Amino acid sequence: MTIGDIQDLETKLASCSDLLALKAIKDEYFGATGIITQQLRNLKTLNLDERRLAGPAVQQAKLTVEKLLVEAEHDIKIKSQSKQLAKEAAVLSTRVPKVGHIHPLSLTIEQMNNFFIKLGYSVYDGPEIETDEFNFQRLNVPKDHPARDMQDTIYIDAPNILLRTHASSIEARALAGLKPPFRVVCPGKVYRNEKPNKSNHFVFHHYQGVVVQEKVSLSELFGTLELLFKHMYGEKVVMRFRSKYYPEVEPGVGPDMRCFNCEGKGCTVCKHVGWIEMAGAGIIHQDILKMAGIDTNKYMGFAFGLGLDRWVMAKFNITDIRTLLGGDVVYPYFEHEKVL
Ligand SMILES: [Zn+2]
Repeated sequence: MTIGDIQDLETKLASCSDLLALKAIKDEYFGATGIITQQLRNLKTLNLDERRLAGPAVQQAKLTVEKLLVEAEHDIKIKSQSKQLAKEAAVLSTRVPKVGHIHPLSLTIEQMNNFFIKLGYSVYDGPEIETDEFNFQRLNVPKDHPARDMQDTIYIDAPNILLRTHASSIEARALAGLKPPFRVVCPGKVYRNEKPNKSNHFVFHHYQGVVVQEKVSLSELFGTLELLFKHMYGEKVVMRFRSKYYPEVEPGVGPDMRCFNCEGKGCTVCKHVGWIEMAGAGIIHQDILKMAGIDTNKYMGFAFGLGLDRWVMAKFNITDIRTLLGGDVVYPYFEHEKVL
């Protein structure tokens, strides 16, 4: 074989991309009628002297061709493995699971907790399975009180063991268990016998705040809520306080926020009134403090309760309460929404 023949072989191998084509090339040299096979066969027909003369060149050609074929096979295998890996990587990349993020409700609770902790509050918890006493009676809602009709209760063991209908039950626990003065906030799940739809669910979330100290005022309550609303929704928030009835407070107030969606003009979010009812609040009824064994000559208090789901829906533009209990991660997590 000449140098030219070897170069031809190298060119052929360079453009050979699979093992089948390589086999064909191999056969051209080492098959039954292959070039090297024939040259080796020819050697046998030569006499000893001729064989000594021609032999080394044929052996050298054989070794060179073998080496080139082995190298070519190695290259083809490496290329094919890389291709396969790239293909698998492409498949893998489409299967990367969605990375979750903190639930909007948990995020809101943490933001509110952090806000209140800075104002000197502690976070207080209570049981979800409650007694009638702590869910109703200690909050000025005796048996047969009409306010019970407003809350369709889920009973575990009627008439005394139930799933708490509001986080005010945690307030009742705090009043009974803590020594005044104190300030606590109580986030938690609450339950009512509601058929789930876009705006109601049988499990939702309340955020209750309770302050008991020697002196409290409505202006302190309003100031606290206004600070909270601005912290959560920004400086532009416009609020109003309306007189409302709640059995556990006297006087009672309902803080409303001007609709974030229409700025008070009226839209479907605010049911065309321009305002969104965000909470219930007031000065804690003296009877409630007395039931908890608190000296009403020395102490007074205020309380507020927020429907947390509504807050979260307003903040994240969520229009169906049921999505808050689903596993969908569609709601984007913005950098600026990190816990403050
Ligand atoms: Zn509106």
